[in-house]
Parts: sequence; C-alpha cells; structure tokens
Amino acid sequence: KDAQSITNAGAILQHFDGDKLLLVVSAVNKTTNQLEKVVNAFFSGNEEAVHMLQAIQYEHVALANELGINDPEALNEIEDCFIDALWILEDEIQDPYDYIYDQIVALGELASSKLNYHYFKSIGVDITWLDVRDVLRTDESYRSGVVDWVTTEQKAKEKIASLLLENKVIITQGFIGSTQDNTTTTLGREGSDYTASILAYCVDANSVHVWKDVEGIMTGDPKLYKNATLIKQLSFSEAIEMCYFGAKVLHPKTIKPIQNKNIPLFVRPFGDVTNPGTAITTDQNFVYPPIVIIEENQVLIELAVKDFSFVAEHHLSEIFAILKDLKIKVYLMRNTAINFIFSTKYEEVKIAKLNSCLEDSYFINITSDLTLTTVRHADLDFARKELGMKKVFFEEQFSHTLQLLHN
Ligand code: ASP
Ligand code: MG
Repeated sequence: KDAQSITNAGAILQHFDGDKLLLVVSAVNKTTNQLEKVVNAFFSGNEEAVHMLQAIQYEHVALANELGINDPEALNEIEDCFIDALWILEDEIQDPYDYIYDQIVALGELASSKLNYHYFKSIGVDITWLDVRDVLRTDESYRSGVVDWVTTEQKAKEKIASLLLENKVIITQGFIGSTQDNTTTTLGREGSDYTASILAYCVDANSVHVWKDVEGIMTGDPKLYKNATLIKQLSFSEAIEMCYFGAKVLHPKTIKPIQNKNIPLFVRPFGDVTNPGTAITTDQNFVYPPIVIIEENQVLIELAVKDFSFVAEHHLSEIFAILKDLKIKVYLMRNTAINFIFSTKYEEVKIAKLNSCLEDSYFINITSDLTLTTVRHADLDFARKELGMKKVFFEEQFSHTLQLLHN
C-alpha cells in the first residue's frame, strides 16, 4: 500500500531468513485501477492518458525516495518500466483493447517488483529480480491468459530452481505472463495469488503463504457480516467452494494447482508475522462454523416461452449458448413448465445484449438490486436469524449449501 507496508514486507522477509524463498508481488496500492483508467482514457481519445501514466510513474519514484532508495541507477530502472507504455500512448491506437490493456496494466507489477527489489536489497537481503514473463507462459487470451503448464513448469525448473540453490531470495511479479512471441498477458484481476500457486506447483514448493490485510479467511466478509470470525483450518475443497460462491479472499483458480501437489496454503495477516492465519490443507475432518458469502448487485431473470410451449431442452440449450457467448455466469437457476429462472451479476451492457438476443422468443422479467447469500454448514433458521433479509425471491438447498436470493 505504501512505504510503511514495504518496510513491513522487509521485516517479514527477514523473519524467514535462511529459507529458500520465492516472493511474488502485486502492484502498489491502487495502481492497477489507475492503469485501467489510463487504458480507458486512451481508448476514449482523452489526451490526458499520457499525463495520467506519468503521474503513476512519478508516484513510484516518490515512493522509492521515501524508502531511502537514492542510487540513480535503481531509480532509473523503476522509471524505465513505464517507457514502452508511454510510447504506446503517444501513438494512434494500433491494437485491440484487451491487448493494449495487458501491455499497460502489467506495468503495475513490473514497477512494484523493481521498487520492492531495490528496497530489499538496500536493507541487506540477498535478492535477485526475475522477470516472470521468462517463465510463465500463457496463450493469447489477453486479460485472461490460459497457462501453458508444460512450458511453464520446464522454464520454472530451469530458471527458478537454480537461483534457489544459490540461496538467494527471488522476487518476481504476480498477475502477468507472456505468450510464445514474448507479448505480455495478464491472468485476470486479483491474479497474483494464482501466480504464486502456479510457481509453487512448478518448483514443488513446501508451502505457499499469501499475505493479506485481513487476519486470514473469515466466516464472512466482516463489512457485510458482523459476526464473522477467523477460520483457522480449511480443507482445499471447502476453500474452493467458498471461492466459487464468491468469497473474495483468494483468486478462485489459486487452489487447484497446489491441491494437486498437496502443498499447504496459508492465508496470513500482513501486519503480524507471528500469526499463522488460516491453513488450507488436504485434511477433510474439520467441523465448520456457518460460513456466509454475500454477493451484492444480483439480478433475477425470468424467461417465459412466448408460444406457451413447455420449457424444453432445446430452449435451455439456446439460452445457454447465448449466456456462454456473452460470458454471463449463472449463479442460481430453475425451470418450471413455462419459465426458466436464473440469477446473475448485474452488468448493464451484458444484460442489455441478453435482452435483445432473447426478446423475440421469450417474455423477460428482470428484478434487480438483489443480494445472493450463500450459507455453508447452516440452515434456513440460521440464515433468517443472523442475516437481515426483507423478501426472499429464490431459495435452494443442496448438501452443505443453502442459497438465498433476496433484498
Ligand atoms: N494487481 C492486480 C490486481 O489488482 C493483481 C492482484 O492484485 O492480484 O488485480
Ligand atoms: Mg491487488
């Protein structure tokens, strides 16, 4: 977040002195959001885009100064991260949005890793900087790069393993990768945890520690659920379910790779290196407290077949083909004789497109401003008592999961 956090990260590193460490860092503070704004400004023809990027560049150099980094070469390295992107912005738009997005937004991680690297070096950590794009190979799906596991594993073994043998701490970037042609890609927002997990898998790490601004994984988001408490131990499968239903604490793709190799994952509070936080392991024998996952901004979409035939498989396959094309995620669904009902996140443009694709064949009714509450390991009584809800529109229970769509 700021100079103090980077200083704290230095203290955490020193706590693990002597261990073989691979450190994956994300962008500083709100840099990724700011870089997204630069890209949007560029695409809307706003001349300010260049100045906005220069301001971010300046903030990184200012942060370096604040951390006492005054070696001119180090400062240049941090500043230079931004040069290629400034060139892109000074030119006409030459490439599609998603491509340009990745070239610009990836700078957040590159600059942050340089900044942290120079700071850690200045406090005496024996550290080396690695460009993760030399290791983490993806396909050309810009903004949601799909990992090429074979190449990535081979390169990780080659480059990372040998550096670890030299007993150096390695610092690298989360969230970004590169294609076969050395073009930068990103893995999707909040993807740095996923990078840590990919690299841990590839080098057979002993453990992964994700440092967060919360105590660990809680039984709910404390901002939305006031009785949330820390969960000290979780199984991989419970953690995957939680992420799938919308718990924001880890990137949903993080868990699978390390589960496959049985590498324990710790989610720990950044502010207290002595607190073990939450341990996620293969152990299945935990009894869980009620876990509450709240997704706001949901819409309930009711489709009724216009010709009054029954909703049949061909309707469903037609509807799902459209949902797939529009990348609309279905959270809850049900069909009756003439209705198909589902909920999704409200995204204005997508919902408008969906409407125009379906309105010839279906009557469409949309209820918005709803909340989807998923409760694991508890029943309806608990949900009604603990979580204030006015009207429930849809409720469903299966195994350990109860879901309620309400306002
Ligand atoms: N900096 C990226 C983002 O904000 C990746 C991450 O934070 O994990 O989405
Ligand atoms: Mg982040």
